[in-house]
Amino acid sequence: MSKPWFADIILPLAVRGRFTYKIPDDFLNKVYPGYRVTVQFGGKNLYTGIVCRIHNETPSYKTVKEILSVIDDSPSINENQLGIWNWISEYYMCTEGEVMKAALPSEICLNNFKPRLDAYIQLAGKLTDDELNMLLDKLGRAPKQLEALLSYLRISGYSEGDEIKPVAKQLLLKDAGVSPAIIESLVTKGVFAISSLPVTRLSQSGNSYEPVKQLSEAQSMAFDSIKSQFKEKDIVLLDGVTSSGKTEIYIHLIDEQLKAGKQVLYMLPEIALTTQIILRLKKHFGSVTGIYHSKFSDAEKAEIWQKVADTETANSYRLILGVRSSVFLPFTNLGLIIIDEEHDGSYKQQDPAPRYHARDTAIMLAALHKAHTLLGSASPSIESYNNAVIGKYGLAFLKERYGMIKLPEIIIGNTREAYKRKLMVSHFTPELLYAMDEALGKEEQIILFQNRRGFSPYIECSECGWIPVCIQCAVNLTYHKGIGRLVCHYCGYSSAMPTHCGSCNSTGMVTKGFGTEKIEDEIKLVFPAARVARMDQDTTRRKNSFNKIIRAFEERRIDILIGTQMISKGLDFENLTVVGILNADNLLNYPDFRAHERSFQLMEQVSGRAGRRQKQGKVIIQTSDPQNKIIRLVLRHDYETLFRLQSEERKTFKYPPFCRMVKISIKHKDKSQLNYFSDILGTDLKNAFGKRVLGPESPVISQVQLWYIKTILIKIEREKPPAKAKQLIFESIERLEKIPGASSVKIAIDVDPY
Ligand code: ADP
Ligand code: ZN
Ligand code: ZN
Repeated sequence: MSKPWFADIILPLAVRGRFTYKIPDDFLNKVYPGYRVTVQFGGKNLYTGIVCRIHNETPSYKTVKEILSVIDDSPSINENQLGIWNWISEYYMCTEGEVMKAALPSEICLNNFKPRLDAYIQLAGKLTDDELNMLLDKLGRAPKQLEALLSYLRISGYSEGDEIKPVAKQLLLKDAGVSPAIIESLVTKGVFAISSLPVTRLSQSGNSYEPVKQLSEAQSMAFDSIKSQFKEKDIVLLDGVTSSGKTEIYIHLIDEQLKAGKQVLYMLPEIALTTQIILRLKKHFGSVTGIYHSKFSDAEKAEIWQKVADTETANSYRLILGVRSSVFLPFTNLGLIIIDEEHDGSYKQQDPAPRYHARDTAIMLAALHKAHTLLGSASPSIESYNNAVIGKYGLAFLKERYGMIKLPEIIIGNTREAYKRKLMVSHFTPELLYAMDEALGKEEQIILFQNRRGFSPYIECSECGWIPVCIQCAVNLTYHKGIGRLVCHYCGYSSAMPTHCGSCNSTGMVTKGFGTEKIEDEIKLVFPAARVARMDQDTTRRKNSFNKIIRAFEERRIDILIGTQMISKGLDFENLTVVGILNADNLLNYPDFRAHERSFQLMEQVSGRAGRRQKQGKVIIQTSDPQNKIIRLVLRHDYETLFRLQSEERKTFKYPPFCRMVKISIKHKDKSQLNYFSDILGTDLKNAFGKRVLGPESPVISQVQLWYIKTILIKIEREKPPAKAKQLIFESIERLEKIPGASSVKIAIDVDPY
């Protein structure tokens, strides 16, 4: 008798270890790595899992369950995807199931990941406005049919003379809130026709391609340098000042890859940035260009997957512009990954697991595809620049702005001085007001950056100093004037604005500090004639809200745009000449070893938005500490010195990139239990790692959603094999989990925390 066959299966669970199931005889030769199967796990729960290995090593546990059904007849997940899932789970110390959950749009988990061939509805024939009105009148007696037709017209945007566009039947049913029978009757009446093409739900672009722009001399040199370094090195860092034309260089490299039949992934840290770049890409590469981010619905995500996976069809996506999660798409043939603004912290996922860094994951992904990676930045991360300096990465420079425009002039607005001399108007220094006034006079546009949303970060009793905090988290509640409520930015809890102090009952509650909402109010008072808009998390909840604001600014329907970090990077506006950084102090004073690096990058990035065409821009940095060494460096755009100082500091105090860090967060709903368990874990880890262990400590935010938090930081030398250290950490955690009562502790591991 031949040996039985088994399959190791990834299930979307946070349970450590692999799950092995027996392959029943019926399914032999029908199950392969990358196939989706249905299995039972824990009680009666059924799960869709992904087969990752076939073997005949009988597992050690007593009862081995069988695979219940096989969903696919070809792999849904390719070998490189399985490879990257496995790498993430090992490097970031999470389960492959957690990676699977983050990677797969839920439609693909739910089996219906096949193109819906006949699920599209369209008008049976073109109608004039008159014919359409008559039809609508006639359907007045059949309100549900009318609703279906109106939905169709709304979704497809049909009007007289237009081409007829198909609309997904599912979408139509949902939008109109009618049953399939209603659609059927409209088909019978000859109003609708069913189209059987695998047409797309996603809007498609036209086919008029523009040739790529000719590179300037400096750009050509950088381009040649990148290409020649790619002969020796897989990764090259492009260190190019803002508005030097990095994007144009990317476009040239993409052009070459597409012509060679390869796929390209172009990554950006923020959804807001995709709005402008996608247009620049589509102009040259047309409909092979796709976009991927979290604001798409699951159905749309599944379709994008399909179009990346199907490399054969004419309308497949071969160039993807995406944020963090686009590293999970089913690429088969990548030639190049571009990571723009590579220094950006948004590339790191914080919560939940997998806590992966998309830049580092993309580098691994490129290696699996034997593709190249190009990192781009005007202020590279200390990590990447260090890799370039030690020769691990190639390094190319682009030190002048396109068109030889000078980098913006940086002016300090000294808030301490201005307050003393009573020259402040609301939160604005005379320097900023002067520059704004001048720009508005010339009909130029302005961006004001403030890294806090809401009206004021906290409110306070003017009698006794009481500050309302979240009932679930140890954080001050932010006042949002638009909705008239206090909101917790960590858990979303909100409460009415109190009329009385919760401690002394006085009525003297006052708002403190300022966020984007307050700046918007004040600016409207100072410049009543200006058109003012705001871009932050609160104004961009809907999928197309970024586009709307960015378009309005491009079309000069906005004079002053106020925003958080989402306006700070990458955007390219022709008529924007003045940028104000309203409060540099709260960037610089953040208690974190990356605070100086980050504030330099942020100020350099925001400044980079000003004066990108024709003439030099102006940046006003408001601070109470003009002598601050980071601000002095920003004044000179002096990244080299920043890198040198940061490197020295991090070597001395043992921080990345000169050591690895693993952060363990321990959470418990009871404070004394938390102290008890975190002390045990801390002591246990110290036995293995000695002085490399810091903590347990209370983090800045020590309670979120009723969970008290402590953190332990482990610093591991670069030279030591990380796998060994990770094993020791897991062993410590497993010992902790065996202690009675430990099941109420939550533990989160974060490798390379940000
Ligand atoms: P970066 O990505 O370095 O910030 P961009 O690629 O956005 O810079 O370039 C800044 C501006 O200059 C853009 O509007 C871009 O279209 C324009 N530009 C850059 N290079 C060229 C070129 N070779 N030909 C024409 N326009 C260019
Ligand atoms: Zn909260
Ligand atoms: Zn009070």
